[in-house]
Amino acid sequence: MISPEDSSPGQSRVTNQKSQIAGGVERTLLDDCVHCGFCLPACPTYTSWGEEMDSPRGRIDLMRGLAEGKIGWSESVARHFDRCLGCMGCMPACPSGVQYDVLIERTRAELERRLDRPGADKFLREAIFALFPHPRRLRAAAFLMWLYTESGLQGLLRRIGLMRLLPRRLAAMEELLPPVTLHGVGGSLPEVVPARLPRRGRVALLAGCVQRVFFPGVNDATLAVLSVEGFEVAVPAGQGCCGALSVHAGREPEALAFAKDTIARFEEEEREGGPLEAVLVNAAGCGSTMKEYGRLLAEDPNWASRARAFSSKVRDVSEFLAGVAPFARRNPVRARVAYHDACHLAHAQRIREQPRRLLADIPGIELVEIPDGDQCCGSAGVYNLVEPESSEEIGQRKADKVLSVRADLLASANPGCTLQIQKILRRRGKTLPAAHPVEILAASIAGWPLPG
Ligand code: SF4
Ligand code: SF4
Repeated sequence: MISPEDSSPGQSRVTNQKSQIAGGVERTLLDDCVHCGFCLPACPTYTSWGEEMDSPRGRIDLMRGLAEGKIGWSESVARHFDRCLGCMGCMPACPSGVQYDVLIERTRAELERRLDRPGADKFLREAIFALFPHPRRLRAAAFLMWLYTESGLQGLLRRIGLMRLLPRRLAAMEELLPPVTLHGVGGSLPEVVPARLPRRGRVALLAGCVQRVFFPGVNDATLAVLSVEGFEVAVPAGQGCCGALSVHAGREPEALAFAKDTIARFEEEEREGGPLEAVLVNAAGCGSTMKEYGRLLAEDPNWASRARAFSSKVRDVSEFLAGVAPFARRNPVRARVAYHDACHLAHAQRIREQPRRLLADIPGIELVEIPDGDQCCGSAGVYNLVEPESSEEIGQRKADKVLSVRADLLASANPGCTLQIQKILRRRGKTLPAAHPVEILAASIAGWPLPG
């Protein structure tokens, strides 16, 4: 299946050394794959192109070829790894329990060490990572976005078709711009929100980078719901990025630095404010990475046990709320709701039933299933920015399925998914309001207005 491959001539350079491991991948992990192919239909890139090397089995074969020295690191090998969404749709489909998440994460880290990306690609990736994991910079950029949209410039440029002249990746970025509010740009979260009913416990919240700037309503709703459900919520000031985007992009040193900062900040909160029952997350990608800190830092003697202890407390907000008896009364919300399974919630954290249960318990909600709901929407961290064509193809399939159920509200627990699906619907001239499940709960419990 793999033929020896030389470094192909191209604009990027790959350091091509033979290695006993592929991207730090132990052979035993590769040997778990028995080539059965059950994962192929679950893979969005295989569905798009039908190419073995763009399937999970094919990518594992490439990793094995690298490990055995049968192929070298080349630009074309790197493309197959770049095209992987990291959606983990292949994992639940695999009867052999192949740890594809670990395989692709380590392969990508090795790829980033070896590959000297061509100028434009490198510049875009550096720009993304100089901005998104830094909430202050993201706020400044969001203010410029606010001026751009509110001044009418965005509408004008779109009307006269100027966006069509932009490079594909820049146009994709512009099209993804979410509605920016001054609340998101300048708002701050309280450091502690007290429990409103008899106190049941104390938890902390990760505010998230994209979440706090572009979807401030999700954090507001999370705090309100937890408070009325009897939980004091700490929102540690000065918390930064959890490192999820960096982990998924193979930027290992940066990811580990973010992980350590996050652990240290929440430990400090616990020392100063008292024990935390859980560290809650309302963005699927962040939660899945924070649950993996223990593994990511396992080799670091100074951090291994701290990381394990921290990860053991991380819960998605829906996972947490579904695990406690509801205190607050649920009032009717009349809506036909399509619940979108974010990959990093459904596949990476295996959380499918809990958000559905929380929504189904709200009187008046008619919960509908999106066909092929376990397939990625094409957002996948920064995938829709660095691989816009593939992301678009996958997103179009998702939009078809979403529209087919004729819902009047989309429930989505990951900001990237929400932006991606709405972008494609907007392009088709359709609008479908989207809300995080916790925003729908806040509407039911506290009468908050729903987005849209
Ligand atoms: S992570 Fe997603 S895109 Fe990558 S191989 Fe698995 S199913 Fe395919
Ligand atoms: S389903 Fe699992 S064992 Fe089968 S080919 Fe895919 S990764 Fe390998």
